[in-house]
Amino acid sequence: MKTRAAVLRQSGLPLPYAESKPLSIETVDLAPPGPGEVLVRIAAAGICHSDLSVVEGLRPRPLPMVVGHESAGIVEAVGPLVEDLRPGDHVVSVFVPMCGHCLPCAEGRPALCEPGGQANVNGTLLSGARRLSCEGVPLSHQTGVSCFAEHAVMSRHSLIKVDPDLALEEAALFGCAVLTGVGAAFNSARVRPGSTVAIIGLGGVGLAGLLGVVAAGAGRIIAIDTNERKLETAKALGATDLFNASDEHVVQAVRDATRGGVDTVLELAGAVAALELGYNIARRGGELVTAGLPPPQARLSIPAVTLTGEERTIRGSYMGSAVPIRDLPRYIGLYRRGLLPVDRLVTHRLGLEDINLGMDRLREGTAIRQIITSF
Ligand code: ZN
Ligand code: ZN
Repeated sequence: MKTRAAVLRQSGLPLPYAESKPLSIETVDLAPPGPGEVLVRIAAAGICHSDLSVVEGLRPRPLPMVVGHESAGIVEAVGPLVEDLRPGDHVVSVFVPMCGHCLPCAEGRPALCEPGGQANVNGTLLSGARRLSCEGVPLSHQTGVSCFAEHAVMSRHSLIKVDPDLALEEAALFGCAVLTGVGAAFNSARVRPGSTVAIIGLGGVGLAGLLGVVAAGAGRIIAIDTNERKLETAKALGATDLFNASDEHVVQAVRDATRGGVDTVLELAGAVAALELGYNIARRGGELVTAGLPPPQARLSIPAVTLTGEERTIRGSYMGSAVPIRDLPRYIGLYRRGLLPVDRLVTHRLGLEDINLGMDRLREGTAIRQIITSF
């Protein structure tokens, strides 16, 4: 079949993207779903900072590629061997397909699925196939999702079925921002009631993490960013203390305000400076949980002796250390009860043709979550 999709053919084009248009809206070919695969009509897709990083060229990917990795949609058709989804079902995409058979999957850590991770690096579905092409030239899939498109073929293992009465615009957020941010707070950091938690980097994932920290009952919630508007948003969502990361005395200011540092730091900025700041504001015995994605060549420098002498910990958190089949229904349940108001992260709704403008807004920090709702 034919479908309309946002294709990235070259990264690192000049700014603004609204003019250089790195993402071209094209009519492409989409092959039918193979065994274990599903054809989904995309209803809503969120623009995430990781998409911007791919457009900027900071996260090299096999191009050309149809981008997008946070979505919700409606099943239109299923391939052979898919017996638990049918046309009309509502689904949320997950950006690591879970094979169910590798060691991390067997250990209950499907975010680290080995064949899933390899397929994502290769730009294929979990099966190894590419179902997208343009004039006979294969197009890569972004993390098995490629949802900046009218339709997508995804592995069954990239999809979680959700209740049809949840608005798909809201459901989309759960696929990346909520899974990653809230999961970092609940699963990776295991935030304790009454504890002091700092969040560095207040984009969509960071603010979702903040909502998770609020829901987990943290006592003091310290929001840190360089953007004053984002700090104000964090305050409205439940942060108790705000610090601007561009203040050269920020480490001392946080340590003073918390009598020696915070219990847990969530770093969601994806920058080495943010990681170092996060480590330096953790108290003796404190933990830095990082869910940001710095460029592959970035290196972190910390005073090594403090790992032992102060029992400080650094913990990585990929996709919120999620078990999506377990976590997504829980997070959706918290959302429905008003305990995780993730709809407040949405600042813009736009059409697929305005996606380059959306990338500019994200870069400039004038948007939190932008949801594409027409394709
Ligand atoms: Zn994302
Ligand atoms: Zn696996």
